[in-house]
Amino acid sequence: MKASAGSPLGRIYRLLLKAFGPQGWWPVTPRGARVPVYTPRFYGPRTGAEMAEICAGAILTQNTAWTNVEKALAGLHGAGPLSPEGVASCPLPRLAALIRPSGYYRQKARRLKELFARVRREHPEGLERWFRSGTAERLRRELLSYRGVGPETADSIVLYAAGLPSFVIDAYTRRIGVRLGLARGGDYDRWKVLFEAGLPRRAEIYNEYHALLVRLAKDFCRKNSPLCGDCPLRLECDHAGRRKDHGKDRSSARPGRIQKSPRRR
Ligand code: SF4
Repeated sequence: MKASAGSPLGRIYRLLLKAFGPQGWWPVTPRGARVPVYTPRFYGPRTGAEMAEICAGAILTQNTAWTNVEKALAGLHGAGPLSPEGVASCPLPRLAALIRPSGYYRQKARRLKELFARVRREHPEGLERWFRSGTAERLRRELLSYRGVGPETADSIVLYAAGLPSFVIDAYTRRIGVRLGLARGGDYDRWKVLFEAGLPRRAEIYNEYHALLVRLAKDFCRKNSPLCGDCPLRLECDHAGRRKDHGKDRSSARPGRIQKSPRRR
């Protein structure tokens, strides 16, 4: 899988992929299991059940760590098959109790119920047929009209559930992008345009790229005291280049294995 050969974004992608390998996003729960698993080099298509779980995960992961989402998803799976019908018909207090580990659980329960109730009402053909019937832009626009679905959640659903090309931006992407010198700042849409304009329009590349940036942020490009000396991007990075030691510090604190997480804020 190649990103644009000579572009800065292409070089960054290749360095990250070489350092970390395919990340296997978005993790979903195999039948009979309770915990989502990562499947490197699988880029879809997803089943309807997997799509429903990714939609739920994209809501549950708002403002919380992925470990909490895993517990909430385990609660939902324990109550029966995770489907639009099941969530939409679940009484709100019970749904809130099931997803309590995810934090903001009353608000998220309302959002989940509304999302899946509306899907049932407006898309009786089901998630699979809905997601496969249109473009990334059309699906994104529609999702953004749902309460509680902002750009990051919408893009996560479009990219990881529907398998359509829509680059996901998060706080990690912006932090790394600013430090690398890709841009000084800007809003969600500015970053999205920057990445999408610089990469081939392919869902597999967007999928892997976002996951690799999250991995980089957790293992090296931390908010405080980034571990530039060992970072695979140190030779591409403005921030590392500006440091007196040119980012060649060898931190004694080696990053641990990535916490299995599509999100952690
Ligand atoms: S070199 Fe340092 S600042 Fe640059 S991306 Fe790596 S960890 Fe972040």
